[in-house]
Amino acid sequence: MSACTRFAPSPTGYLHVGGARTALYCYLFAKKKQGKFLLRIEDTDLERSTPESVQAILDGMQWLGLASDEAPIFQTSRFDRYKEVIDQLLNENKAYKCYCSKERLTDLREQQMQAKQKPRYDGLCRDSAEQSGENFVIRFKNPQEGEVVFNDLVLGEIKVSNHELDDLIIARSDGSPTYNFTVVVDDMDMTISHVVRGNDHVNNTPRQINLFNALKVTPPFYAHLPMILGDDGKRLSKRHGAVSVVQYKEDGYLPQAVLNYLVRLGWSYGDQEVFSLSDMIELFELTKVSKSAASFNTQKLQWLNQHYMKTLPVDEVAQALAYQYEVLGIDVSQGPALTQVVDVLKERSKTLKEMAENSRFWFEEVTEYNEKAFVKFIKEDAKAILDDMLSALTALAVWDKESIHSVLKATVESRGVKFPAVAQPIRIAVTGNTTSPSVDVTLEMLGRERSLERIQKLIASL
Ligand code: GLU
Repeated sequence: MSACTRFAPSPTGYLHVGGARTALYCYLFAKKKQGKFLLRIEDTDLERSTPESVQAILDGMQWLGLASDEAPIFQTSRFDRYKEVIDQLLNENKAYKCYCSKERLTDLREQQMQAKQKPRYDGLCRDSAEQSGENFVIRFKNPQEGEVVFNDLVLGEIKVSNHELDDLIIARSDGSPTYNFTVVVDDMDMTISHVVRGNDHVNNTPRQINLFNALKVTPPFYAHLPMILGDDGKRLSKRHGAVSVVQYKEDGYLPQAVLNYLVRLGWSYGDQEVFSLSDMIELFELTKVSKSAASFNTQKLQWLNQHYMKTLPVDEVAQALAYQYEVLGIDVSQGPALTQVVDVLKERSKTLKEMAENSRFWFEEVTEYNEKAFVKFIKEDAKAILDDMLSALTALAVWDKESIHSVLKATVESRGVKFPAVAQPIRIAVTGNTTSPSVDVTLEMLGRERSLERIQKLIASL
């Protein structure tokens, strides 16, 4: 049997971390088995589903590189098919029309609750001769005996007695199909072999298996994934910062880091922390997914991000960095190559956003000097030091970091001061602040003309 998985989000928001992890696990499992990974948009809740959210999900998956192997399937385009299967079940006497009024069902529920019983439909219309009327729902005839047993690939064997399950409504009074039913019809038609989803769906599974059996189709295998908790042990939510996957792009994370981070949320392989996509495909196993909740750890994500900034081909990192400048409105057409910026700043930045913010001075004029830095480092002798530096730098035949460094050293010696007394005023002149890569590299990358101009400007202001 060839493997086929699907990611089936409801488009009622962005692609969140939990959804993205589900998509990744579905993707990895399918790829490992040389099977297919499909996307199904569960958009039947017309009030809550939006086209923007569909787009956000597609964008998120694209950014992560989790391409589905076929065009996405939208449930809203399949109403005819759902109707067909409902009719089939009615014809085969596996479903029936239920005319029970809301009032009757409410009374029933109250009686059951008072008697400390689990509320469930009592099956009144199941066996009654055909009634007539306009107002009915369609219920599935759930088996009344026996139990549903399935071997969840993560949770192990799960058994539920059919006594626990009542006759599920598969079509509402307006004819619209219900959630558990559409999932089964879709999983059947899409020939899904493995359903991988959040464990909030585990209670739906026995009902879905009964529907598969009624349709005489072998149910897929199921794997229910553990919940994700925030840094603080509470269920992951907006409070914890970025829960939308695309927000990580905005915040300056590389998709490789996020994928690597996601795969470790509930799955491990010895002590290994770093996994390329091909490692993941090779090593991932659903049966090794943890049963217990996974905890989010922002520090680990940052660590992975820095790891990928340092180890991915520099061109690739530079491309992702370009996006950050775009967002910040920084024109990088004049100035050092972005690959150079990555090389120089990758050890000093946790995110690409930080890298872009800390490198503005190479692309933009310095319009103000950090006040604290100014007070601390621009002392009485600063003007004389800057004058010395300016003339020595102006006289340089070659503008490279080695020559710039020798000018710095010579000035330190001739003035009889410590290195920062020279380096920091220069840094302030060219970057506005005192944090930058080494001064020689900073000046080399800024270029002769702009470096000299900025030093002159600071001197003029003293
Ligand atoms: N649409 C469901 C959700 O977003 C997923 C259903 C499934 O995977 O079976 O939670």
